[in-house]
Amino acid sequence: MFIHRFFRSLNVKTIDLRSDTVTLPSPAMRQAIASAELGDDVFGEDPTINKLQQMAAEITGKEAGLLVASGTMGNLVSILTHCSRGDEVILGDQSHTFYYEVGGIAALGGIQAHTIPNQPDGTLKLSDIATAIRPDGSHFPPTKLICLENTQNRCGGVILKPDYMNSVAELAKQNNLKIHLDGARIFNAAVALGIDVKELVKDTDSVMFCLSKGLAAPVGSVICGSAEFIKRAHKIRKMVGGGMRQAGIIAAAGIVALEQMIDRLAEDHKNANKLAHAIVQIKGFSINLDAVQTNIVYFDLDSEDITAQQVIEKAKQKGVLLLNLGAKTFRMVTHYGIESGDIETAISVLSQIMKTLK
Ligand SMILES: *Cc1c(COP(=O)(O)O)cnc(C)c1O
Repeated sequence: MFIHRFFRSLNVKTIDLRSDTVTLPSPAMRQAIASAELGDDVFGEDPTINKLQQMAAEITGKEAGLLVASGTMGNLVSILTHCSRGDEVILGDQSHTFYYEVGGIAALGGIQAHTIPNQPDGTLKLSDIATAIRPDGSHFPPTKLICLENTQNRCGGVILKPDYMNSVAELAKQNNLKIHLDGARIFNAAVALGIDVKELVKDTDSVMFCLSKGLAAPVGSVICGSAEFIKRAHKIRKMVGGGMRQAGIIAAAGIVALEQMIDRLAEDHKNANKLAHAIVQIKGFSINLDAVQTNIVYFDLDSEDITAQQVIEKAKQKGVLLLNLGAKTFRMVTHYGIESGDIETAISVLSQIMKTLK
């Protein structure tokens, strides 16, 4: 806090690369929030929410959409809608749902996570999925659902391609399973591939995407699926405390996000690429450039003389914030509000720090 205030007093911009969740709403969003038409959404009467949900359904090519408070709530509500207590869901061991959602599906839904390894390209091997599907029989929990994540955060923001999605869908169909996609950053994937987002989600039964990450809205995520799925999800959202009344003030920013903030993600990808290619040049860091496909840059510290936390502290003193994801691993995420010049500043700060080590 003190450091932020200090830099603000010097009029030096803090370059916050910890996450795209730190994005602040655009001026157009603040205006839309101020003038949003509102109603009681638990009665389905908030026109702004209804508009957002319809837009989300159209963009994803699904029948219906549902605004939820967060991506975590969106995944939880979706999985609770697909599964009952004692059911099993197959998901990656690096998935957000397994890693970062407080075990909600087990704690609140009695649903068992059957994890299989995420490959470095973010995929789950088809043979691993096939092996994880339970046979019939009195010993086994019934497998109901496969969860995929696109872009895959912990694998570096890598992209799952339409042909891969299609082959998982074939397998799911053969085994009478549903597919839920954690598409927190699905628009990053679509923009990076230069394809319609519909192409990427057509093989899924439900998809969640975040308005509050790269799309820069202050709050909210949307789940999309069949009308029948969303009807059941609506009730489960209420059960977990997600009936939000005049939440059109949230949805208003979400509409602006979908209208104005998708195409500009290309700029974030360009900045991430520039950052990654500069990190390659800095002695003491190592990076897998193949994994830098969207707006996320993971890299490692090679030095034995210093910890990642020390590098982070030094960078923070110079106004550059990055995230520590392990003793030797950093994450930086580019987003709305980070300009090309900020990337140059961040690069120069990091290379200065590594130079003064020796
Ligand atoms: C951020 C994120 C979520 C959850 O979103 P919150 O709004 O933070 O709850 C889910 N999945 C992935 C891949 C994410 O990156």
